[in-house]
Amino acid sequence: MQSNPLLNYQEFVPYSQIKPEHIEPAVIHAIQSAKKELEDILSILEQARSSKEILTFENSLYRLIELEHVLERVWTPVENLLSLMGTPELRSAANSARPLVVEFYNDYSLDPRVYELIKLYSSTQEAQSLDSERARYLKCLLLDFKLSGAELEGEDKEEFKKLNLALADLSQKFSENSTDSKFEMILTNPQDLSGLPEDVINSGKVLADEFRHELASKTSQQEALAIIPESAFLVNLDYPSYGPFMKFSDHSELRKKLYIAYMNQGTKNANMGILGSNEQADLNNDSIIVDIFRSKLRKAHLLGFKNYAELSIANKMAPSAVHVKEFLTRIAKKARPLAEQEYNQLVEFQKKISYHNSENNPNKIYPWDKDYLSEKLRKELYDFDTNITKPYFELGNCIRGMFDIARTLFQIDFKLVSGIEVWHPDVEVYQVYDKDQSLIGTFYMDLYPRDIKRQGAWVMPLVSSCQNRDGSKTLSQCALVCNLTKPGENLKSLLSHQELVTLFHEFGHALHHLLSKVSLEPLSGTSVEWDFVELPSQLQENFCWEQESLKTFAKHYQTGEPIPDSLIEKMLKARAFNEGLACIRQNEFGLFDLAVYMREQDDDKPVIQIYKDVVKEYGLFDVWDGTNFPNSFGHIFAGGYAAGYYSYKWAEVLEADAFSRFQKEGILNPAVGLDYKTKILEKGDSSPPMDLFVSFMGREPDENALLSRMGLERQGAQV
Ligand SMILES: [Zn+2]
Repeated sequence: MQSNPLLNYQEFVPYSQIKPEHIEPAVIHAIQSAKKELEDILSILEQARSSKEILTFENSLYRLIELEHVLERVWTPVENLLSLMGTPELRSAANSARPLVVEFYNDYSLDPRVYELIKLYSSTQEAQSLDSERARYLKCLLLDFKLSGAELEGEDKEEFKKLNLALADLSQKFSENSTDSKFEMILTNPQDLSGLPEDVINSGKVLADEFRHELASKTSQQEALAIIPESAFLVNLDYPSYGPFMKFSDHSELRKKLYIAYMNQGTKNANMGILGSNEQADLNNDSIIVDIFRSKLRKAHLLGFKNYAELSIANKMAPSAVHVKEFLTRIAKKARPLAEQEYNQLVEFQKKISYHNSENNPNKIYPWDKDYLSEKLRKELYDFDTNITKPYFELGNCIRGMFDIARTLFQIDFKLVSGIEVWHPDVEVYQVYDKDQSLIGTFYMDLYPRDIKRQGAWVMPLVSSCQNRDGSKTLSQCALVCNLTKPGENLKSLLSHQELVTLFHEFGHALHHLLSKVSLEPLSGTSVEWDFVELPSQLQENFCWEQESLKTFAKHYQTGEPIPDSLIEKMLKARAFNEGLACIRQNEFGLFDLAVYMREQDDDKPVIQIYKDVVKEYGLFDVWDGTNFPNSFGHIFAGGYAAGYYSYKWAEVLEADAFSRFQKEGILNPAVGLDYKTKILEKGDSSPPMDLFVSFMGREPDENALLSRMGLERQGAQV
């Protein structure tokens, strides 16, 4: 067992040594150790029943925290690898071990003795006089246990357990079906590439070469060439490929085809693409979605909630599902006139340039034409082609700038280090240092797409900083993951502004995780309430929009010339462009999420119909027949955003409001930076998020900062 790298490592995971066959034995071993430790912890229970005052935070709660860590240490690296290097072998090994992990946490959280111990401790003298962090932990713990079914008994308890197991499998299957849904469009006629900028054409050709190469290794060179001819262009559903094509290609029909494929991930029409030999594998999430909803609803009912949304929101910053629905509806209503104006502006523009859309209807904007027409109109209105900014956003410069801003504001430092193992040669490792040169934490940056890497961008917390029982300190680690445009050979990676914003967003999460000064691991870093977690990430995005911060790093990659003021001005003017439409779209997702999970019973209504109804009521674009977005909406069906999608908008309100202090007192003012760092970034979940917010702003959040950023009038409402 000691030769198993998942069990036998000190500070950093030896990624290169981990093989699929290590996973299950390591998981089994960790679970056995954890179970043994649990029995040892619980052995105090008998005595405690008659004299509860023998219980202390150290001999009960602290030991339970450590116990959970035993399995996390094995399983977190597996989850990390799974999303970044998820080969079929690794997936299947992880899939066979996952039920054991889920079962362990299930048994643990439903073990009546564990809950009894916590309850007993909570009634001791000591528990009444804990410091605020420990008191908060105890309170959250009791609620979490209750929400995980600790107060259930008998058959209900068994059923609850089974539902959790089923949900873990369903979520995983949902994600796999979306990820495995592939589609490639191969273009050989140069006319089909009209509108595409040179770098997009180049990337598409590089992609075609990669696919041909891969295909040749599976079939033959000849066959591969027949499918993907020399110098062909390939576009697929990965965002760096899909996004620019939708924005720039002149051909409405081609974009429509691609859009429909995109909106068919995880549906009965999905297949595995060229490299999967277009296999008709069953990738359909229809019944999985229904089962996910039913299982979640049943859990809610068992716990005494009337729907899953109420259960989900019980441990969030927002007071209730009804409150959230009102919040989203209010913002949707306020944004609607602006969105309508923007929609009509696009229609007028389409007519003006006599653009022939695929449906030959000049009075309507189709979803696959929206980005294209918007880009053209943006250029006309603001003389602003988003490609013009790319040379100023060379990845290396952007990363340096991102670090420099954090250096100035938070008085920390970053160093690129070698000698720490990574899972792929593209990955870089950085360490963060405090003003006094003491090490704060370590993070991995994995920025480029790979075939087996999950799409999107995220931060995966790997180790949370905390104070150990023996007085030592554990330092934080996380992985910052993006799928940014990869530079060709000898070329620089030039980011779109959108990609820059994504990078800063994830960096905000990373800072929140890394800078935590909370003592207790479960309250550390980003483990805050869901609807608060996007505050630091979205706040960090602002530095991609402010002249003062942009000037520090946005320099032309060839000439070194700083980004011109006139260009920043255009970017800023263009920022508010189509904000109404974007707001409506985001609120649609949030309201759809609530519409699914606020149902109090299983009404057999197809989820796609619920989606169509929400879009009809709040949206401006129709749902195109033959598309099914919900089937790949992983946030609410596979991720943790079920009845929590609203948190993006919620956090935007918090973030726009919090950032107004920087705008008022200085974008790069270290005094504000430090105040923000000490009152929010370092605090994790050690206090209720509303208290943290109030301590930084001196008052509760206010929607006005966000509304005025969108160009809407100030209104007198609070969240
Ligand atoms: Zn985020």
